[in-house]
Amino acid sequence: MERVYNFSAGPSMLPLPVLEKAQKELVSLGSTGMSVMEMSHRSGVYQNIVTEAETLLRELMNIPENYKVLFLQGGASLQFSMIPLNLFRNKKADYVNTGSWSKKAASEAKKYGEARVVASSEQDRFTTIPELHRSMFDPEADYVHITTNNTIEGTCYAEIPDTGHVPLVADMSSNILSEVYDVSKFGLIYAGAQKNIGPAGVTVVIIREDLIGHAPAFCPTMLDYKIHADNESMYNTPPTFAIYMAKLVFEWLKDLGGIPAMEKINREKAKLLYDFLDESEMFQSPVAPKYRSLMNIPFTSPSAELDKKFVQEAKAAGLETLKGHRSVGGMRASIYNAMPVEGVQKLVAFMKEFERNNR
Ligand SMILES: *Cc1c(COP(=O)(O)O)cnc(C)c1O
Repeated sequence: MERVYNFSAGPSMLPLPVLEKAQKELVSLGSTGMSVMEMSHRSGVYQNIVTEAETLLRELMNIPENYKVLFLQGGASLQFSMIPLNLFRNKKADYVNTGSWSKKAASEAKKYGEARVVASSEQDRFTTIPELHRSMFDPEADYVHITTNNTIEGTCYAEIPDTGHVPLVADMSSNILSEVYDVSKFGLIYAGAQKNIGPAGVTVVIIREDLIGHAPAFCPTMLDYKIHADNESMYNTPPTFAIYMAKLVFEWLKDLGGIPAMEKINREKAKLLYDFLDESEMFQSPVAPKYRSLMNIPFTSPSAELDKKFVQEAKAAGLETLKGHRSVGGMRASIYNAMPVEGVQKLVAFMKEFERNNR
């Protein structure tokens, strides 16, 4: 079976060289005679894998010394709870509402204290990102929460807001490693792995050290950042295979030239699709140009019937998972790091032909 171009929003494509390397090492990793999945997480071989994964991520994202890198479980969704649990001291935080995921993050935080929505793009049906100014944030807030890339709505911050001394917390699940970010502007960055890092099962948390160690006494041990930081993500059995795969993805990204090189390719891919959407008479992007995501590109045709036909015929042409999210409708092409330029070129060529045939 030939591989397809998979535009899934997550879990999503992994780089083929990574899958092939994992396949080669699956039954016996190096000279160990066992699979990485069968190995003790306390073994020297496995310890090296975790250390290497962290070192590579630090290098790729240029993570400063005073930040910890944690490999956790529970997805980005568990971070919606862990963040207020660990960071609340004044028991209030400011949330920016830019889509379904930020909404979920805010409503979870409300269980622990005050989660104030300081700005929202809901009135624009989430096709924009609100303009933010430092004066909008409560200086007493424990943190400000943003979602850098809105996976479902296809929007992305054009610039990172200035929150003054209030730590900025970012859900980067769908655009971590896709463009250069200055980690020092954030107090905490988190991301579920299954979009740009590796398979589902591991969640990366990058946290400034001064934000660790303030969890209340009732905080479950497994939800306390300090426990995971003190034990180097090895308090209990970590998701060993997922971390190993993440390490292979980090190596692949480093060989490609790191995040600056990746960002250049991502901009090229997104431009191909947006340029076509802007000239097409059939397909349209609902998102304001300034806030268009490089990773998730929703688009619409004039009717639900055409949408359906498009998704079916695209699948037959080897272009899969293009159906839009149920809350937005239409189509969505997720073009994460692992999607090659050729995949987007094929998609645009297919869209042009579809438009000609269905005028
Ligand atoms: C996918 C996604 C989530 C949810 O991630 P899980 O790992 O499934 O919990 C949260 N936030 C954003 C921005 C996402 O794209």
